[in-house]
Amino acid sequence: MFYNKSIFITGANRGIGFELVKESLNKSAIVFGTFRNKSKSKELYQIKSHNFNSFQMNVIDEPSIKEVSNKLTKPIDFLVCNAGINNGFGNFFDKDHSHEKMLEVLNVNVLGCILTIRNLIKNLNGNAKVILISSTLGIQQHTGATATIYRASKAAVNNVMVSVSEELKSRNITVVSFHPGWVRTDMGGVNATLSAEESAKELIKSFKNLSLKDTGKFFNYDGTLINF
Ligand code: NDP
Repeated sequence: MFYNKSIFITGANRGIGFELVKESLNKSAIVFGTFRNKSKSKELYQIKSHNFNSFQMNVIDEPSIKEVSNKLTKPIDFLVCNAGINNGFGNFFDKDHSHEKMLEVLNVNVLGCILTIRNLIKNLNGNAKVILISSTLGIQQHTGATATIYRASKAAVNNVMVSVSEELKSRNITVVSFHPGWVRTDMGGVNATLSAEESAKELIKSFKNLSLKDTGKFFNYDGTLINF
């Protein structure tokens, strides 16, 4: 089911994005991965596969997305909006919740997804799957006082996912969001329960099973439904 399918992954140079690239290549997909800085993308550059292409792109810089869109030679079957940031796990009194930092989180996590989809829409295949990497921290029914703006950004990602899914339903495009698990990356930290490799393996398995009946839904990495 993944052989010769094309998958486009933002934030592919490290963490979950990088493992999604590797797992997709293991499954014989054609992979497009984006990075922001060459200096932080050494491992990505070491991938030697004729099925892999990397592009410099910042999800909050529209011209950079348009440039990638114009360079793509194959339609996208799976578009994975994975790039994201967290400004720390403090509450809104914490210094990490300065106005500037909060705007940055909303800009990258929420607007970044919208800008990516808007500018790559013409590259999507007829029955493409658009996957937004969200988080269970964005679920509305919660009792946590920490990570205030990160939670809000992921709640917004799920909300945006619903709007985009409605917009693209008539084009047979499936739009969903996924929680990748608590994953040992720079963002997830060393105490997280899953390795990035484990998360990516399960995510790819789940992506392969998606169809239009799933559109507008939020899933755990193992494919189980999450109420948000
Ligand atoms: P990492 O911090 O390890 O990696 C984040 C990736 O996003 C990097 O490749 C980074 O690039 C990229 N990125 C950040 N900002 C931009 C931008 N403006 N334009 C393009 N790329 C950008 O995070 P994870 O791999 O852990 O997280 C991936 C996704 O999973 C995120 O959306 C995160 O919110 C979500 N998630 C993660 C969880 C976890 O436990 N790890 C749990 C729940 C959700 P660069 O190297 O240039 O900074």
